[in-house]
Amino acid sequence: MESGIALFGGSFDPVHIGHLFIVEEVRAALAIEQVFFVPAYQPPHKSEAPQASAEARILMLERALEDRPGCSFLDWEIHRGGVSYTIDTVELVRQKYPRKAKPKLIIGDDLCADFGSWRQSERLLELVELVIVTRGGSVESDTIKEYHLIDNSPLPVSSSDIRERIAEGRNYRDLVPPAVYHFIEENGLYRSSFAVDSIPGE
Ligand code: ATP
Repeated sequence: MESGIALFGGSFDPVHIGHLFIVEEVRAALAIEQVFFVPAYQPPHKSEAPQASAEARILMLERALEDRPGCSFLDWEIHRGGVSYTIDTVELVRQKYPRKAKPKLIIGDDLCADFGSWRQSERLLELVELVIVTRGGSVESDTIKEYHLIDNSPLPVSSSDIRERIAEGRNYRDLVPPAVYHFIEENGLYRSSFAVDSIPGE
């Protein structure tokens, strides 16, 4: 059995049950000690900035991960600001956890085709063990040669679908953990598709 740490990057705008489900699947398959969710300040591959503020996305992650042993989050990319590159985060993990084995990097197979365009993708692949989860995409890639493939059933959930549902006043309740649902409702997040939501009183 392998162990060590894994990084799981994303916008988490908002974090949803698809994220939590695959992390548990990865932990069951690879016996990972700690998974760090890494919210991006601005993901390089998305044309639009996250809709909720960085602060709101962190607060939702905090709520989603409480009572979930083996999972926590790193706010480094949020504090760094600007475009968030995974290579910078991985270099920092190597500095902060020099005694740990190579970190694993969890990505959905929807990201594989473009992996070659990630900043320093070849160096990144030397520094991490890639863990690919199924999301209805394909692992086909010119860059990726070695990886762990998780045979998960993909949950048909995405943050963009959830945002759209909220903006249209449709049901989304069970697509996010209960504490995240309450947070979204209490703070009126995502009700308009354009506004950047802020947290009243913070
Ligand atoms: P959006 O719809 O806004 O693009 P998203 O649902 O893809 O967001 P992200 O935070 O961008 O969520 O995703 C972070 C990571 O989680 C990516 O590697 C993505 O492939 C993976 N992921 C997201 N949703 C799922 C899911 N339902 N099943 C498997 N992997 C997922």
